[in-house]
Amino acid sequence: MQKNIGLIGGMSWESSAEYYRIINQETLRRLGGVHSARSLMFSVDFDEIKQLQHAGDWDRLAALMKDAALHLERGGADFIVLCTNTMHRLADAITSSVRIPLLHIADPTAEKIKAAGITRVGLLGTAFTMEQDFYKGRLQSRHGLDVIVPDGDDRKIVHEIIYRELILGKINPESRQAYRAIISRLIEQGAQAVILGCTEIMLLVSEEDSAVPLFDTTTIHAVAAVDHALTR
Ligand code: GLU
Repeated sequence: MQKNIGLIGGMSWESSAEYYRIINQETLRRLGGVHSARSLMFSVDFDEIKQLQHAGDWDRLAALMKDAALHLERGGADFIVLCTNTMHRLADAITSSVRIPLLHIADPTAEKIKAAGITRVGLLGTAFTMEQDFYKGRLQSRHGLDVIVPDGDDRKIVHEIIYRELILGKINPESRQAYRAIISRLIEQGAQAVILGCTEIMLLVSEEDSAVPLFDTTTIHAVAAVDHALTR
């Protein structure tokens, strides 16, 4: 029987809906018939999350993530998929509060990048993800990747488009142009590929917006969840 996938969603629900769609499509693709994925989702109120993030209250956020993980464990989940890059800052808090494992978003992403023979990679995400060590550090120390991020002005643009538009499902062509220009500047700095390290960026940007391969963490993480769910 398939393992039961426990999703922590709502960050934002626009991207959680993508996870749900990709996980079910991938399960059907692999198993055929009318198969779909065994899963449950605990979805939070993103307004509260956003305010706590911007206030730097990671202790309170850790408590909320632990609570979500416990609900999933009690509900019968076999493992946890945290449907956001940013909140992986709290990956250790989650794993220490439940017995079931967490499938860390950075690991299958790094595996795919390494399998493509890429060593120097650009990273787009929220300011938290681009600037703090929990994500870049894992890519560098565990996976040996050389990670570059946009400069300060560009990071601000990337961050604000995420929180003001993509979280709300707003897709603006001008914002796509801004991302295209930022991706080009990462390529000028030697990026051989770019990680879409925020689960909403795939709503805005696709391969045709970039001269180098894009690694979309939403798709990679969702497919990795199916891999895990179908492995005995
Ligand atoms: N979904 C986004 C991410 O992957 C940002 C929302 C959040 O702050 O969790 O980082």
